[in-house]
Amino acid sequence: MNEAVIKPTGAVLGGRPLPVPDGVDPAMFARRMGRLWTVQVESAFAITPRVRRVRLTGAELAGWSHKPGQEIILRLPQDNGEVARRHYTIRRFDRAGNTMDVDFVLHGDSVATRWAQNAKPGDSLDLTGPRGRIVVNPQAEWQLFSGDETCIPAIYAMIESLPKTARAFAFIEVAGPDETQSLEADATVALEWLFRNGAPAGPSRLLPNRLDAFALPPGRGHAYVIGETSNARAQRQALIARGFPREQISAEGYWRPGRVGGHDHVDDSH
Ligand SMILES: Cc1cc2nc3c(=O)[nH]c(=O)nc-3n(C[C@H](O)[C@H](O)[C@H](O)COP(=O)(O)OP(=O)(O)OC[C@H]3O[C@@H](n4cnc5c(N)ncnc54)[C@H](O)[C@@H]3O)c2cc1C
Repeated sequence: MNEAVIKPTGAVLGGRPLPVPDGVDPAMFARRMGRLWTVQVESAFAITPRVRRVRLTGAELAGWSHKPGQEIILRLPQDNGEVARRHYTIRRFDRAGNTMDVDFVLHGDSVATRWAQNAKPGDSLDLTGPRGRIVVNPQAEWQLFSGDETCIPAIYAMIESLPKTARAFAFIEVAGPDETQSLEADATVALEWLFRNGAPAGPSRLLPNRLDAFALPPGRGHAYVIGETSNARAQRQALIARGFPREQISAEGYWRPGRVGGHDHVDDSH
């Protein structure tokens, strides 16, 4: 599996350093932001009615490495001269084929949705990365993943990297049965889909309620709760209320109604 080629973020060999803003520590900036890469679209195709995969390639990717679950930040030029930055997970990096897959949820008329829908072979794209703290905790005796469709790339990339001996549980909220995706993993995985059945994506009790009812296995687990920010918060709280150790939870808000780009911290102070 290509993601098994894991090196620390700082070990990337390709890309260019980003210009460091005044007053910012260059080493910290490089660690947080990664490097700047220019890649090209190889192909773009639907993988479900609401998810479009864009396959990227390019000479610079020869120096690429990342940890499963990490993301890139797309730099999408706008007509007004500004650059819109959007976070997307590295769904898969194929070193032999020199391609990187990025899966876009088509949620409406937005900057990234438009870009993914119009992407065609040869289009150029600037991105920074890899970045992101949410990666697999190899010390855990079992793993619990929970999130909506924007999290499938991260959840699947992390699960696919687990060894045969690992045990994982995954709860994924999507619009309906036609939005499910198949998963091939070496680990033993219990994957459960939760359908919105016509309700819009957004704040919901679907995932927190499922976690309330989840029988926590014995041993030291690690939970990854991601997705719409208020849902990620509610899932974290649901686990903490069950006595799950907070230091064994990785949480992040991937999107939120009304928020443009960016990400939300989900911890005791947020
Ligand atoms: C670490 C990380 C990894 C991520 N990985 C992925 C990924 O692999 N695939 C993926 O599809 N997304 C992913 N996301 C989420 C993605 O970055 C956001 O959905 C982002 O806002 C999309 O940009 P946009 O230009 O489409 O919409 P924006 O211009 O940012 O937002 C426009 C409007 O759309 C709303 N909106 C944004 N996303 C959604 C959504 N999913 N459903 C409904 N409404 C929405 C916003 O609240 C806003 O009102 C990730 C986010 C983070 C932080």
